[in-house]
Amino acid sequence: MTPEGGIRGILSKAASGALDLVFPKNLYCLCCEDTCEKSRIHGICDSCAAQMNWLDHDPFRASLDEFAFDRVMSCCVYGFYARKIIHGLKLHSRTYIAENIGLLMAEKAKLEGGSFTAVVPVPMTPAKKRKRGYNQTELLSKYISRELKLPVWKDVLEKVRETRSMRLSTGEERRSLLEGAYKAPEGARGKLNGADILLVDDVVTTGSTADACAIALKDAGARSVSVLCFASTARGYIDSAEDNVVQ
Ligand SMILES: [Zn+2]
Repeated sequence: MTPEGGIRGILSKAASGALDLVFPKNLYCLCCEDTCEKSRIHGICDSCAAQMNWLDHDPFRASLDEFAFDRVMSCCVYGFYARKIIHGLKLHSRTYIAENIGLLMAEKAKLEGGSFTAVVPVPMTPAKKRKRGYNQTELLSKYISRELKLPVWKDVLEKVRETRSMRLSTGEERRSLLEGAYKAPEGARGKLNGADILLVDDVVTTGSTADACAIALKDAGARSVSVLCFASTARGYIDSAEDNVVQ
């Protein structure tokens, strides 16, 4: 089974009685809000799922040597449908979406394989988290860690300063804007030493944020950093989508 076939298989997997109880809210599609068959356990109707661009490869595979992270696992391309889901999660406080796509992301990590020490969510500054009321990467990490039976380490990486909106910035500009924005607290060094980290973000575009996080984690001793996201803009592919990413 190819990873793509795997993801499609997961999307159409019939719900068990237990899952019916876990996902009673999946009456409406996360993308189009039409009624969605309850058997679609990830809350994406067949029509929307068919139009999403599911990825079966690392979108950064051609440029990994430019980044501090080791690989990127992404469920789909950040196109129209994925953007609707992510905007619901980040802008409209539809936090229940985190469970649906967190489980999908966990399935993606299982399909791709690998062994990880812990899940680390991409952090926000405390001020940003207060403003939004939650950090969506922490919510995603909760469900991913549960599925993969891994601990979540929220204390090994912090965002130490706010970065201005990076919309319309080039990859190079974003990289310099982010320099030093993330760091591992002194006390995290022992914990991170030799660790294989699964870094969780909702969307990866230029890779600058994940790169800045990976630099900080590796500086503090992490052995490897694998990025797991719901959606990504493969380089040179759907460039315009990047302009619509909410920070
Ligand atoms: Zn739909």
